Amino acid sequence: MPELPEITVIARQMNEEITGKRISDVESRQPKNLNMPVAKFVKTAKGKTVKAVTSRGKWIFIKLDPAYYMLINRGMNADLLHFTPNEKLPPKYQFKLTFSDKTGFTIQFQWFGYIHLVPEKDLTKHKLTARLGISPTNAKFTREHFKKLLANRKARTKNFLLNQKNVAGIGNVYIQDILFKAKLHPNRKISTLSEKEVNDLYNAIQTILNRSIQLGGLAYEKDFYGQKGKFTANEFLVGYKTGKPCPTCKTPIIKIKTGSTSSYICPTCQPLKQP
Ligand SMILES: [Zn+2]
Repeated sequence: MPELPEITVIARQMNEEITGKRISDVESRQPKNLNMPVAKFVKTAKGKTVKAVTSRGKWIFIKLDPAYYMLINRGMNADLLHFTPNEKLPPKYQFKLTFSDKTGFTIQFQWFGYIHLVPEKDLTKHKLTARLGISPTNAKFTREHFKKLLANRKARTKNFLLNQKNVAGIGNVYIQDILFKAKLHPNRKISTLSEKEVNDLYNAIQTILNRSIQLGGLAYEKDFYGQKGKFTANEFLVGYKTGKPCPTCKTPIIKIKTGSTSSYICPTCQPLKQP
């Protein structure tokens, strides 16, 4: 499942590639992905020009001129691929957007996914994105912002960070190494974290996510040009490494149940300190 690094990589590539281009055609083979009937969607999108492409959490925001947004969520996994004229298209694509220069992109969802068109003035009313927290890659995600976010919260650290309303873009993949790097047990209560631990956690979020962005994201996820990322299983510190030695102290890594998710931890480096 794509998380913040994979979405960031693809949004940056799209911003470079499609900004300034004018939409000339749209095709949808799976109308349930859209937030309006296909004919209306096509009519609304046609003729609009891409102003910029950004991301927030697991959503891609294509800003259109005049005054619209196309919001894309790739769901569990989807190939979102650029094409040039005469290039062979993926046979099972469900969505195709073509620009006036005959380039464009296709989307092939694996399971669910969304492509929504929203007037700019109604963006804050778009239920699925309006309440998303700030992404750690956003300039607004400062140390001060993070401290304020954690103040007076009683949730457990892992659950808190996975809640997209608090922080947008962290999922069950990268959270493993973030908590390890910050030396925190997933079940530590936010209210028991020291100032140093909050600082370490902020640093760990930035370090782990930015390293994956630099590597182009996870090795099983494709970018806008169909290239796979270079963040392979070897890159994980403790994630998915049950029984392997902790990179710091050599204690075997264990897999534990934490609520509805699994966690990979070093029981020595990440003890569950009770207040
Ligand atoms: Zn350890």
